[in-house]
Amino acid sequence: MPTPIITVQNLVKKYGNFTAVNGISFEVNPGEIFGLLGPNGAGKSTTLEIIETLREKTSGEIWVNGFNIDSAPEAIKKIIGVQLQTAGFYHSLTLTELIELFIGLYQTSIDPLELLKKVNLTDKANAKFKQLSGGQKQRFSIATTLINKPTIVFLDEPTTGLDPNQLVEIRALIKELGKEKTVLLQDKRCRNQYQYFSQKIK
Ligand code: ADP
Ligand code: MG
Repeated sequence: MPTPIITVQNLVKKYGNFTAVNGISFEVNPGEIFGLLGPNGAGKSTTLEIIETLREKTSGEIWVNGFNIDSAPEAIKKIIGVQLQTAGFYHSLTLTELIELFIGLYQTSIDPLELLKKVNLTDKANAKFKQLSGGQKQRFSIATTLINKPTIVFLDEPTTGLDPNQLVEIRALIKELGKEKTVLLQDKRCRNQYQYFSQKIK
């Protein structure tokens, strides 16, 4: 058995009296594509944002790549890539300009064209973000999670709002990503309970 890269034990998140996450536990192995599936309001985003160190938990224990989330959140931040909602991008900048902006923020170096090649968007390098189709915006936002060369990538509903062709494309891209990285994603599914399991899309 490999050592898990993410371990979540009895995670609880309360917003006031409301329990959004009620004691879940799971492990993710290195290189796995792991899906948190459940309907709107199930607590998927809350769970991922806690693991991403962006939200405080109420109780429970979390380790990411051997780092405990309470004692080493900064170490965790360095090895993760987090997908922004597409609304989070400056719509009037070109894809190259947006990547350069992130490179500056992360103080890293990466060739924007190499990055765009990974998501099949090299021909859009000088297009503005707002000129992209929905599927292209999703692919670009997935590319931006790779800028800081993370070990683990978090995707927030990468397939929401896509047509069937785009869905096939994004699934293939996530599968590709899974060859190099550990991927955690969340998606809505028609389930009446919060369920989580390793996605069988590999
Ligand atoms: P999902 O991503 O599965 O749709 P969320 O984690 O976004 O679920 O939300 C889980 C529950 O917690 C929902 O009922 C939501 O309304 C509630 N919730 C999320 N964020 C907050 C917040 N900041 N304050 C209060 N309630 C919240
Ligand atoms: Mg969500």
